[in-house]
Amino acid sequence: MSILASRLERIKPSPTIAVTTKAKELRAAGKDVIGLGAGEPDFDTPDNIKAAAKAAIDRGETKYTAVDGTPELKEAVVAKFKRDNGLDYAPENITVGTGGKQVLFNAIMATVEEGDEVIIPAPFWVSYPDIVLLAGGEPVAVPCSQNNGFKLRAEDLDKAITKKTKWVILNSPSNPSGAAYSREDMKAITDVLKKHEHVWVLTDDMYEHLVYDDFQFCTPAQVEPSLFDRTLTMNGVSKAYSMTGWRIGFAGGPVELIKAIAKIQSQSTSNPSSISQAAAVEALNGPQDFIASNNEVFKKRRDMVVDALNKAPGLDCARPEGAFYVYPSCAGVIGKVTPRGDTIKSDTDFVKYLLEDALVACVQGEAFGLSPHMRISYATSTEALEQACERIHKACEALR
Ligand code: PLP
Repeated sequence: MSILASRLERIKPSPTIAVTTKAKELRAAGKDVIGLGAGEPDFDTPDNIKAAAKAAIDRGETKYTAVDGTPELKEAVVAKFKRDNGLDYAPENITVGTGGKQVLFNAIMATVEEGDEVIIPAPFWVSYPDIVLLAGGEPVAVPCSQNNGFKLRAEDLDKAITKKTKWVILNSPSNPSGAAYSREDMKAITDVLKKHEHVWVLTDDMYEHLVYDDFQFCTPAQVEPSLFDRTLTMNGVSKAYSMTGWRIGFAGGPVELIKAIAKIQSQSTSNPSSISQAAAVEALNGPQDFIASNNEVFKKRRDMVVDALNKAPGLDCARPEGAFYVYPSCAGVIGKVTPRGDTIKSDTDFVKYLLEDALVACVQGEAFGLSPHMRISYATSTEALEQACERIHKACEALR
């Protein structure tokens, strides 16, 4: 008999990590692979944030802290939610975890019971369904097509809600599509949620600051204040502050839920790193101007990649509002035959062809619940992106 618990059978290893591993293997074998699978900015963490971490070490802030965040960081998060989102949270409404991922994991573990449904618009971040499954819940994916800008339509949300719905997870700007909800888009969604009082809202605002072309970010509890008492507003420093390795995420929500999240954290990891918390205080309270300069670079790359992909035969790429991903449709290459004689039957086949024959690593749409698409991350150097787009173009042209 296996030592492993049966709950492990409900989930799969991260498909994005599988692509990265395959790309690494090819690189180790001497192949010049360009990786477009990464979900992290290629910029370094700003110097003032690094200095704050060093100062914390020198002050001896190297001990356990309060389980779900230091008072200083909670105050900084309260100020952030007020400043950026107009939300009035008190410190007891705030939780800090080891990345947004842990906050999300704890929130689902604390609330989802066997058979509870969680609505997840597709394409989705790969971890949502698996965390729900691990908790014994049922992920309910609602397809959001490219024609609707990869956004959830109010009528589709309304139809997906049942008596068993516990949460709806929203993620704007989205990983993997980059799509972001305008205030009007969000209002249509919150109007539906207002009617269904048993449904809670988990909003993953991780890419809040990564928006282009003067797009105005909004979050559900801001657009519909009556949802405030049943919303968990999740965010973090990983993406906007180039701090993926520091592992700090946070959320604001009702005290009962925040306490439950802390209870789970107290019996698993305890506090996130004391040093990372000090760095996150500086990230949130310090200068924010580098975000706009990073966004200038991201926007240029987005435009270059979208334009190049739309010239490749068989691809159709929308120009997303935010994040650092594009999610082109590869419907036009399905059914075509590669120079080796293999028929491309799915986005997984196409991504495999791109990796093996064009030496470009992307992630298949299947992993994110909406096919036939692929995710390309433009959080990599402009030169590498240009070369990758050229290779993708040639690979599409070589199909018959
Ligand atoms: N939510 C989304 C949509 C993400 O893309 C990611 C990271 O890839 C996370 C949450 C997790 O971020 P963190 O590094 O804070 O755990």
